[in-house]
Amino acid sequence: MDTATITKQQIEQLRQLCAEAGIKLTHQRLEIFKELMAADDHPSAESIYTRLHKKLPTIALDTVYRTLATFDELGLVKKLHIMNERTLFDTNLSIHHHFICSHCKKVEDIYWQGFDNCSLPEEVESVGVVESRHLEFHGVCRSCLDGAADKEK
Ligand SMILES: [Zn+2]
Ligand SMILES: [Zn+2]
Repeated sequence: MDTATITKQQIEQLRQLCAEAGIKLTHQRLEIFKELMAADDHPSAESIYTRLHKKLPTIALDTVYRTLATFDELGLVKKLHIMNERTLFDTNLSIHHHFICSHCKKVEDIYWQGFDNCSLPEEVESVGVVESRHLEFHGVCRSCLDGAADKEK
């Protein structure tokens, strides 16, 4: 995983947020942050742990869990709770939706401004005030579909 994509700005932001929250920015926390920001998928705590383990053999899965929870509180990542799946972490903080492949479990970002901005049915408004909208699409992704088609040939 290429961690060179982390900008000094991102690390500076992390330092600042930690300082404001009175959290010590330990070496392990910094490494978890770098790994998280380098991930272009939606990693689970387990996969961050597996990726970091080579570099930091002494790191504990529990530390990864707690650090990710802290980052979530600081607003650096968003927790994703996909039906029946483990908690995943999303570093993409812009408004978007998700396509979950039931075959390879990959989670892809979906942008749909038309949906984000459309007025909601009265039924929704009568239930309460909507603060955010998130759609989950469940299906089979292109590469899995292509793979299945290749096998049939
Ligand atoms: Zn797939
Ligand atoms: Zn996402």
